[in-house]
Formats: sequence, structure tokens, C-alpha cells
Amino acid sequence: MDKQPHRFAGPPGQEDMPYLLTPGPLTTSRGVKAAMLADWGSRDVEFRRVVSEIRKGLLGLAGCNDSYECVIMQGSGTFAIEAALGAFCPKAVTKTLVVVNGAYGDRAAAILSHLGRPMVKIDKGDSAAPSADEVAAALDADPAISHVWIVHCETTSGIVNPIEEIARAVKARGKTCMVDAMSSFGAIALDMGAGIDVMVSSSNKCIEGVPGFSYALAKRDMLQASRGMSHSVVLDLHEQWRGLETNGQFRFTPPTHALVAFHQAMKEHAAEGGVPARGARYRRNAQILIKGMRDMGFSTLLPDNQAGPIIQTFLTPRDRNFHFETFYEELRRRGFAIYPGKLTKRPSFRIGTIGKVDEAVMNGVLKAIKEVLTNMMVTDLAPLEG
Ligand SMILES: *Cc1c(COP(=O)(O)O)cnc(C)c1O
Repeated sequence: MDKQPHRFAGPPGQEDMPYLLTPGPLTTSRGVKAAMLADWGSRDVEFRRVVSEIRKGLLGLAGCNDSYECVIMQGSGTFAIEAALGAFCPKAVTKTLVVVNGAYGDRAAAILSHLGRPMVKIDKGDSAAPSADEVAAALDADPAISHVWIVHCETTSGIVNPIEEIARAVKARGKTCMVDAMSSFGAIALDMGAGIDVMVSSSNKCIEGVPGFSYALAKRDMLQASRGMSHSVVLDLHEQWRGLETNGQFRFTPPTHALVAFHQAMKEHAAEGGVPARGARYRRNAQILIKGMRDMGFSTLLPDNQAGPIIQTFLTPRDRNFHFETFYEELRRRGFAIYPGKLTKRPSFRIGTIGKVDEAVMNGVLKAIKEVLTNMMVTDLAPLEG
């Protein structure tokens, strides 16, 4: 394996770097990278226009009516999650049901418990989808539950949860519905009108921007009522909103480059054809990848009707010659960065199908995988039993 393998040329602007087949940071376009080649002042009038267009554009993309606001928060996706939970789930008057089917649901539950906010869980393990009936039954059994938190695409496995049915069941009972749509927003349609009061996502997922900030779309009356509820100064969603509304500025230094890059990414998202077109490209990526992997003999964790277009989980082959670290390194040398598995029980690995990647990249990674398996002398791709 010493000789230099054929290397698939990386993304435009960084041809000697691998394509990121991960759930973020992910591969961005050359235009998005180029937008970062200028320095912007945070009080600059043009910069404030960019921020205001991003906030309006995100509300439009989510189909929000004018009862919603967009609040941008510095930091990765989890910062908006903690900010939203801190603002909207105060101790004395709320109890939150967290619907868990993977690491990201678990993380929201961990934040609530760290903050000492009342919380209960439905835990489906890491590869089963929760149903609206289950959520409804949990709400009916415990009238003290006021809020529900659920992940749209649980990136741990790639499963897409039936978010709108669940939101309708939550609303029918007069409760507040909050959604982590981090890894789906921009690629899988989300109907806020189904009864979603709060949605959080971040800059470096399906809009194809770079890491640096996250955002919450939330009902204005909830934001107004959240004054003084936050456990934190920096993560105070209400104060952040007030700041952006008062003078269009952030309270603390914003990630200016990430914001102008995101503004460009939103233009490219619209030019591609918005959510339907972006979703269609990712679905095509996923179909090509899954078919090619199955043709080689790999097994997917999820059945096709549950695996979303975002990231695919493959079960580790039982062949003794298969070592994930070698597999990973050899693929990286060929121009592709894949992702380790995160399941608690079954050994697995993941390949992301989002970012500025298309059919040619998918065919490229499949070809590289075949070559690496041959070199590793792996022939038995049946999964290890979990
Ligand atoms: C990426 C992601 C997050 C946020 O993770 P960060 O590392 O904080 O950006 C949260 N939830 C889901 C479902 C995600 O995919």
C-alpha cells in the first residue's frame, strides 16, 4: 500500500484536500470560500445588511409566517440548542419531553439536566424512529409536560423522524414543539405551520456554509416571554434578539467571514432551486452510494424508507482484514474523508451525502472503496453481529 494511489481531485479551491463526506463541516463551493477573502467590520452598514438578509431569508426558507423571529447565535449548532433550551424551558413552569433516538437527542437531554430544568425522555435507542402515537401517549400520561424537543434528522444514524406528524400531535394537546433541524434544514422540507414553535439549525450543514454560527427560528411571543430566563449571559437568546433588533448588531464579535460566506451560500441554494433541488441532489447522492455499497456486499443499518438523504450508516464487515483506521486513511489518501460510526451497540461507519458533492464524487468514493478493500484483502462484507 506504499505506492501513491490515484487521487480524486478535491473540491475547487482546495484540490489537494479531501472531499468531506461528513455531516459538517462539509464541502463548500468555490464561491462560498471566495466570499471569505475580504474583511468586514461588524458595525459596517453593508455587513448589517447581510445579517438582516440572512435573518429574513432563513424565515422565508422555513415558510414562517410573521409571528416568527430569527436569532443568530455565535458558535456551533449546540450553542443555539443550549440557548433555546435555556430561554424556553424555565425551571418553575415547564417540563420538557425529549424524544431521543441517537446522540443529538441525548445531548439536548444532557443540557436540560445540566441546567436543572425538569425533563423526561422517550428513548428509542439509536436506530428506531419515534411515532406520533408514542409522543401523544407520553403527553397524555403526564399532563405536567409542557414542551417537546425532537431531532428532525438524527445524524447519529441518518434516520429522519416523522416531525410534522409529531408536531401536530404536540399542538393538538396545546404543548410547545421544538425541533433540532440542524442536519436537515435546507434539504428536507419542514413545515413550521404544522405546529413547530422553535427550530434550530447551523451554518455548516445543508445550506453549505462554513462553521461559525447557529440560529433559532422562534415564535416572537415566546422570545418576548423569555426575558430573564436564560442561565447564561452569552447564550441569552432574548438579549441576542434585542441586540439584533435594536441596531442590527451582535452583542459580541460575530463570525463575520462565516456570515458573508453563508449569505453567498443562501444565494447558491436559491439558484440551485431551493429546498426541493438541494434535497433531490442529496437523495441522488444517497441512492448512488447505497446501491454501490450494497453491490459490493455492504449492509446499511437502516431500511430505505427510514434512511434520509443526509448521511448513511454502514455496518462494519466481519472480515478480519477490515480495520476502520486503515480504511479511513487509505480513502483519505484517495481524496475522501468519511466518518466513524456513533452507534452504541453495532460497529459501523458513516458516509455523508451532503455538501457541495454530486454523482461524480459518489462514483469516485465507490471506486476508491473497491480499490482499498482489494488492497486490504477484505472479501467478506457481511456485517459483524452486534
Ligand atoms: C451537527 C448537529 C448538531 C450540532 O452539532 P455541533 O457540533 O454543535 O455543530 C446538533 N444536532 C444535529 C442533529 C446535528 O446533526
